[in-house]
Amino acid sequence: MDSTVCARCADRGTACCTIAPGEEAVCFPLSPWEIERIAPHAPDIAWHVAEPNSLELHAMLQRLFPMEAAGLIEAFPLGRDHERLATDARGRCVLLDSFGCLLPVEARPLHCSLFPFWMKGREIMILDADCLAIGEARGPAMLFRSLAMDPDRVRSLFASLRVSLGLAA
Ligand code: SF4
Ligand code: SF4
Repeated sequence: MDSTVCARCADRGTACCTIAPGEEAVCFPLSPWEIERIAPHAPDIAWHVAEPNSLELHAMLQRLFPMEAAGLIEAFPLGRDHERLATDARGRCVLLDSFGCLLPVEARPLHCSLFPFWMKGREIMILDADCLAIGEARGPAMLFRSLAMDPDRVRSLFASLRVSLGLAA
């Protein structure tokens, strides 16, 4: 394991930076606050696009925020749009190049920075994902190290993500 795991992963079409074409509806939404925060650091390309709110998005929010899904679903009503990261024809985020993300680490979307970690209540969990770092790590401690993460940072990122979605920290 080494600290370049995400750069190595970029060559194989990373799990966290690629979405299967046709599954754009479940690309994690970007709040207006996130877009404003990221914009000064983003290259001069169309890096976010509008995506119609959908039942697929609602199901994903239900899975990721089971206790607060009702309020979130109200915040993404059918018939309206939200913003998400733009992807190319292969489903790759347009901010991904062969060396990894074009954004500085601190400017990346919160859900990107968290991946593959998530929180269930007060517990940190590891998402079931095709992530090279998960595949190479022998246990959570090694996974934290390889992604230069630690539990406090996961909690802090998750709290910020919640606030950006209009939930209590
Ligand atoms: S977090 Fe996992 S899936 Fe994402 S770039 Fe790093 S190794 Fe790949
Ligand atoms: S913004 Fe960066 S980290 Fe997030 S999906 Fe795009 S390339 Fe990957």
